[in-house]
Amino acid sequence: MATTAIPIDTLPSMNPATGEVLGHFERTPASSLPEIVSRARAVQRDWAKLPIRDRCAKLRGLRNRIMASRNELTDAVVRESGKPRVEALFADIFVALDSAEYWSKNAARALRTQRVPHHSTAAKAKRGYLTYEPLGVIAIISSWNYPLAIPLSEIIPALAAGNAAVCKTSDFTPQCGALIEKLFIDAGFPKDLVRIVQGGAEVGQALIDASADKVIFTGSVATGRRVAEACAKRLIPTVLELGGKDAMIVLADADLEVASSAAVWGSYTNCGQVCLSVERLFVEQLAVERFIALCVEKTKKLRLGSGSDPATDVGPLIRPEHVRRMIDLVDDAVSRGASVVCGGSARPELGPNFFEPTVIVGVDSSMKLFQEETFGPILAIQVVRDAKQAITHANDSPFALAASIWTKDKSRGMALAAELRAGAVMVNDAISYFGIAEAPHGGCGASGWGRTHGKAGLLEMMQMKYIDVDGLARSEKPWWYRYGSDLERAADAFLQFEFSGGIGAKLRNARSAMKTFFRDHGW
Ligand code: NAD
Repeated sequence: MATTAIPIDTLPSMNPATGEVLGHFERTPASSLPEIVSRARAVQRDWAKLPIRDRCAKLRGLRNRIMASRNELTDAVVRESGKPRVEALFADIFVALDSAEYWSKNAARALRTQRVPHHSTAAKAKRGYLTYEPLGVIAIISSWNYPLAIPLSEIIPALAAGNAAVCKTSDFTPQCGALIEKLFIDAGFPKDLVRIVQGGAEVGQALIDASADKVIFTGSVATGRRVAEACAKRLIPTVLELGGKDAMIVLADADLEVASSAAVWGSYTNCGQVCLSVERLFVEQLAVERFIALCVEKTKKLRLGSGSDPATDVGPLIRPEHVRRMIDLVDDAVSRGASVVCGGSARPELGPNFFEPTVIVGVDSSMKLFQEETFGPILAIQVVRDAKQAITHANDSPFALAASIWTKDKSRGMALAAELRAGAVMVNDAISYFGIAEAPHGGCGASGWGRTHGKAGLLEMMQMKYIDVDGLARSEKPWWYRYGSDLERAADAFLQFEFSGGIGAKLRNARSAMKTFFRDHGW
């Protein structure tokens, strides 16, 4: 709740465009986390017993609440993250609404009990089923860059699946966190089923120590490593959605007008503070001159300013240290031979956190700009001889989140996608798959593990149970006691029947093999 006094146990809500403190929000005491998790666990038991259609009806109510509050939510996102309103609407509000819409319609089908056909003769008398049960309490620890889309698109499937959720939103976006909790209260969800906890590392750590059943973490590699270590000590399974260094490969046959617009948007949207930002461009020699010219022309037309100004294309970075980081990355690249073609400087006259959209060419893997996550408005280009070299460079990174390929030849795009080390590859688009509810999101290597979104993301929040129903309730199993040389021969005949191949071997061994099944156990 916002207060006018500034007690020590509050979090400031700050506008990154101006550095102005907009209000203060209560910090959740770390010592209260065990109680919060245990209450969520108690409520979850009844929530999980509700028919899934009732849980989904509640999600439709949530969707209606988000829709009705979209202006207030958008204002909060713009104020605390600095992004332009259009980006808050398309990325945060749309993703949250679509997640509620999708899971309210599709969770029941995704979690339906499945028959598992058995291929082996030894298991033919059994019927197999896969069922899915909620894990219990899902702990969600989120980043600030999509302060509604990321937490909500994880809380919503957690609830659809019958779990409770305790979510620590980022300490940079406490107002968005408070509004998320209010959405669930206003939509009539059971008290304590969804809790937002506010604070920094100490509250995140306390949430892990409170022993939730799974931790879904979104954030930097450094924090992800700490979270994984803390969870490993308690054997808490994790999903880690960490940083990216996404490659964009532009082939000579691409529509360069379209690809250059994509490069500009993909590098600067959310001021480049996107895990899926286009951070490394590999452009085929034949196209590079025109492609750079187009990128520079389009970059120069972009308006840098506060996200609340409708004319703004690119907003501020989140905090001053991020501006210093951009300066350091550009200096390092230039000192190693890269050239800034446009932009390249901080703009302190606009506010404390502004850095110009920047096009830089001649970048390579010796430079920090291609090694570390940039997380800022820098469009960095390396020329490549051909597609093969582009793939080699693109795969030369510890990160493996997503990538894009630009070509008019869709089959070639598909074939090259198979060669890229990434959790997702887009052909002729970038970033937007994050907004497709069916598409799983996640990577490997330094980008983390596990998935959010899509059925794969839903199943991360479930305990999968296999149920085996044996049809021969009156028979002892052939592999049970008692043993002896007859059973040994019958077992070998069974192996020959099953695995020798050819109808002859099957016929020769069928009789002896059957003895395995219909033997006298000799009790
Ligand atoms: P961050 O790592 O600083 O913080 C992420 C969250 O972890 C915050 O809520 C923070 O308070 C919390 N935290 C910090 N220390 C903790 C600890 N010791 N234990 C538990 N929790 C702790 O990241 P950020 O600056 O908020 O976000 C930017 C990073 O997130 C970038 O690297 C970006 O690529 C990544 N990100 C990844 C995805 C993805 O889906 N892969 C999406 C968005 C952002």
